[in-house]
Amino acid sequence: MPNPFSRRLSHTASASLLLLLAACADTPAQALTTTPQPAPAVTATAAAATPTPIETPALSFEEWRTLLRSDAIAAGIDPALFDRAFAGVLPNPDVLKADSSQPEFTRPVWEYLDGAVSQTRINRGRVLLVQQRGDLSRIEQRYGVASEILVAIWGLESNFGGNIGTHNVVRSLATLAYEGRRQAFWRSQLLAVLQILQHGDISPERLVGSWAGAMGQTQFMPTTYNEHAVDFDGDGKRDLWNSASDALASAAHYLQSSGWQSGQSWGYEVRLPQGFDYALADPEVRRSVAEWRALGVTPYSQDREQAADDTMATLMLPAGHRGPAFLLQSNFRSILRYNNSTSYALAIGLLSDALRGGDSVQAAWPRDDRQLGRSERIELQERLAAKGFDPGPADGIIGANTRKAIRALQLQLNWPADGYPDENLLQQLRTR
Ligand code: CA
Repeated sequence: MPNPFSRRLSHTASASLLLLLAACADTPAQALTTTPQPAPAVTATAAAATPTPIETPALSFEEWRTLLRSDAIAAGIDPALFDRAFAGVLPNPDVLKADSSQPEFTRPVWEYLDGAVSQTRINRGRVLLVQQRGDLSRIEQRYGVASEILVAIWGLESNFGGNIGTHNVVRSLATLAYEGRRQAFWRSQLLAVLQILQHGDISPERLVGSWAGAMGQTQFMPTTYNEHAVDFDGDGKRDLWNSASDALASAAHYLQSSGWQSGQSWGYEVRLPQGFDYALADPEVRRSVAEWRALGVTPYSQDREQAADDTMATLMLPAGHRGPAFLLQSNFRSILRYNNSTSYALAIGLLSDALRGGDSVQAAWPRDDRQLGRSERIELQERLAAKGFDPGPADGIIGANTRKAIRALQLQLNWPADGYPDENLLQQLRTR
């Protein structure tokens, strides 16, 4: 799922957008504000969820709907269509619960990848690459996005169209716009979905999606849908629910709009030399491939096609210095615009490689590493702040500021400065 906030969001799993974001240490996790994504995958598992209190709305749902109806009509929505879309619609408590839950535990990136890039998914994806070859090649010609990337997105977003969600999207969005968090955001999504209905892409009765309103085989949020969905099969409807061609082309169109560089890769796994300065593994540190090579950063697999020397890239250590390292090109950022989770983007890249018959990750993941829970991440941030570092707000999200603060502490301790929050670091802060 793409990020809703930026344009689309998708979410299949019932975990929440927030979860996903939070699941990835590298991703700034403002899910909703930037990207929401719940994704099937990335969302990881929440063992325990702490509900966030939500204010009781001042208007009854019926009063609220009356005002919304008036605004929708002023925006050009046909009154009869509005009434049809809202027939029998009442707030859905399950959606509110999903919106407010903040899971204590998120899945480690290697466990997420085990599920996202499973052999079953690879096999299915390879069959579909053959079956959809004609459409995929026309889509690649028009938008410049490789077939394997699109099939990987299709696989992660909806299991190749097999899981597009069962929620009534109008009901979900109305619930969130009426009494969820970020009501203005949800209201704009709700108005966008009414425009989609009015456009005739789908009937109100068939408008299903994730609990958060992500729709179709590529799980687009309504505003993203309006901006980027395309009718590729030429039947006059942008039908991301029932037309694989429309869905794949829409994903390609969206990536193209997000700066996709045709003919380039997303990145590749690399080896780092002894004594490497891990502080360079930061999204803000961009170097050319030639500069990385001069620093001793080389492709893990020698037969892998390498990027041109002047290609700019960043280095990522998704599990800290004990795990695999990846050199990322700008297309990785385009995937992040689709869904702002580094775990998700890495899964798309690795799945697309596997669909081409490429290698899986070569270096070992630190599977013995215990992930910090949300309350421990908050404690880590509080303790960093108490020691005079500046990790940003203690929200349990390991974003750029927290990573910098962790690095500063690691440097003080003369530890590898990878900015990765682990149990040893927390223990160290507790005892100092
Ligand atoms: Ca169509």
